[in-house]
Amino acid sequence: MNIEELVGLVQKAVNEDENENEERAVDILTQLESTPIEAFDFTSAKFAACGKSISALRKKAKSELVKRKAKECKDAWTKIIVSKSSNGTDSKTPPQKKTTKTTTETTTTTTTAPKSDENIEEKKKEKGEEKVEEGRNTTTENDEKSALEQVQRTIASKIEQTNNATRDRSRDVIAYGLALAHCEGNCEDISVTSLARIVEEVEDAMSEKWKDLGKEYKAKLRQLAFNMKDPKNPDLRRAIAKREIDATTLIDLSSEELGSDERRAANQSIREHAEAEAVRGQRKEASTTAFKCGKCGQRACTFYQLQTRSADEPMTTFVTCVNCENRWKFC
Ligand SMILES: [Zn+2]
Repeated sequence: MNIEELVGLVQKAVNEDENENEERAVDILTQLESTPIEAFDFTSAKFAACGKSISALRKKAKSELVKRKAKECKDAWTKIIVSKSSNGTDSKTPPQKKTTKTTTETTTTTTTAPKSDENIEEKKKEKGEEKVEEGRNTTTENDEKSALEQVQRTIASKIEQTNNATRDRSRDVIAYGLALAHCEGNCEDISVTSLARIVEEVEDAMSEKWKDLGKEYKAKLRQLAFNMKDPKNPDLRRAIAKREIDATTLIDLSSEELGSDERRAANQSIREHAEAEAVRGQRKEASTTAFKCGKCGQRACTFYQLQTRSADEPMTTFVTCVNCENRWKFC
C-alpha cells in the first residue's frame, strides 16, 4: 500500500461513518489497524492528515462502534510510531535517512520470517555489546573497590584483636575510613601500621568512654563512619590519618564539627529557614493536632524538623504549643 492508497482508505472510512454505514466503516478501520504503517514517512503531510482523520473519528464518529474501532486503530499506529522513533539509532537522524531505512525494512517485510530472525540477531548483538560495555565499567569499579578493600584488609590485619565482636567490627569500620584516605593519596607518608595504631586508639577511646558499648558507643561509631566515608569530607579522614586530631578529641566532636564545610553550610541554612518558619508559624494557626502539649494539654501546635546530627539519622522535631508557647523537642 502506498500513501495515496492509505489516504483513500482513511477517507472512505470517514465517508462510510458519515453515511451511517457502521459495519463498512468498522471493516475499513480494522484493515487500517493492521496496515504496516512502518513503511510510511511519519513526518509527511499526507500521513499526518490520515492520523488526524482517525483521531477525529475516534472523538466524533456518528457510531459508537466506529469511535471505539478508531481508537484501537489510533493506538496501534501510535505504538508503531513510538517504537519506530525510539528504535532509531540516532535521534538526530535526518528525516530523509529515516525514509530510506523505512523502505529497506518494508522490502524485508515480504519475507517475514528472516526479518524477525534478523531483528532478534541484531538485538542480541546489541545487548551483547551493552553487556561488554557494562562489564568494562564494573571491572574498573571493582578494581578501585578491591584496591580499597585490600588496603582495609591490610590495616585490619595489623590491628590488635579485642576478643569482643562489637569492638572488632567497629575497628573494621574505622579502618575503612582510613583506607579511603590512603587510597585518595592524602596520607601517603603514613604507613599502614601507623593507620592500624590510629584505629586502635580511636576505638580504645570510645570503649573507654562508653564502657557498656551501648547506644552512645554505637551512635558515635555510626556518626564517625558516616563522616569518615562522606565523599564530600576527605579532609576529616586525612586529618585523622595524619594525627591532626587525636583520638580523644575526635570522639568528642559533634556531628557539626565532624561534618564537611558543605554539610555545615547546608545545616545552617536549614536551621535558619526552619527558625524563620517557626516564627511565622507562631503567628498563624496551629498546623497540627498530632502533638499534645505537656503543659496545657491542648493539641494545637506548630512544628519543624531539623537534621541536628548526621544525615543518616532521623530528624529532630521541634514543637511549639500555640496556646501556651511551650516548646519541646524529640527525635
Ligand atoms: Zn501548651
